[in-house]
Amino acid sequence: MLDKPEQNSPYQEKGKEISVASDIETFGRRPRKIIIKLDSDGFPKAVAFFDIDKTLAECGFIHGEAFKKLFAEIYPDQDPDKLTELYLKGLHLGTTFRVFHRMIGIARDGRKEWEDPEKYLEWLPGHEKEVDKKGDDHNLAAELSIRHSQMSAKMAEDMFNRDPQIFEQTKIKPVFHLAKIYQRMGIPMCVMTANDEPFAKAVCKSLGLADSFIALACQKDFVGQGKEGAIEYLIQRLEGKGVPIPRKFIVVGDSLNGDIGSGAKFMAEHGGYSVRGVLISEGDIADMREKVEKDPNLKDMQVEVLKPSAIGDGSLASYRRNKKTKPRV
Ligand SMILES: [Mg+2]
Repeated sequence: MLDKPEQNSPYQEKGKEISVASDIETFGRRPRKIIIKLDSDGFPKAVAFFDIDKTLAECGFIHGEAFKKLFAEIYPDQDPDKLTELYLKGLHLGTTFRVFHRMIGIARDGRKEWEDPEKYLEWLPGHEKEVDKKGDDHNLAAELSIRHSQMSAKMAEDMFNRDPQIFEQTKIKPVFHLAKIYQRMGIPMCVMTANDEPFAKAVCKSLGLADSFIALACQKDFVGQGKEGAIEYLIQRLEGKGVPIPRKFIVVGDSLNGDIGSGAKFMAEHGGYSVRGVLISEGDIADMREKVEKDPNLKDMQVEVLKPSAIGDGSLASYRRNKKTKPRV
């Protein structure tokens, strides 16, 4: 199904709109129906996939605290503040198993070289199976990750109940603005995260994502793969809701490897699709663009770099115009 994009949509009338219910949980509130606008060919303009942490919101103050508590309990002879700092530096590894596998390596096995997450990523090729799929190392990483997710979820829900405004402040506003633009264009949107389900759901609820996003993929939905597996899973969810799937996708995320790179991998694995990337980064824009250009995995991909702090409360359109961030098509 995914290998052969549909040629024809069941909808052929011009300007047709369909509405679908979001699968994303809310705190007891009924989610609004999401309107999808179809072009004259019967397909929406694109489907967009957003990462959550450090893309839509900064959630580190919650899961960082939970991490500190958990690792202080399991590895009491290690400095919890230092471990937490190292953990927060290595969230972009693509799967939650890798994030925890790296930290177990540092805390338990003294693998100092992994303190630099880039060194871990250099080690990873050829080891993906033992980390992402099966074996003792995988099992321990998976177990700690799920415990951590449950602790983080509880903390998030308690915080929301105390003061929902906390979550408003964690939103990365320009990225929500980008989502609003896509929503106005009637583009169906989904969220995908390498977090485990308890925390992923708690964050979706606290951020009110059910108003804009249709479905969520979390770690359990793409075990053994990177987020290209999350894209496959989400496309099937959308198809199940009767959404005609166009050949154009947009991946929005803060990880060149874990988010944008997964878009490239999806394209390489499935013929007939074109995937664009929007990299959310606080790095220097020119440096980030160079990184994108030099990445051999991204050679077939158009990638726009957005720096949220440089946009601030200003207009996304004028930022794009002034910085010429949009790739030429
Ligand atoms: Mg992220």
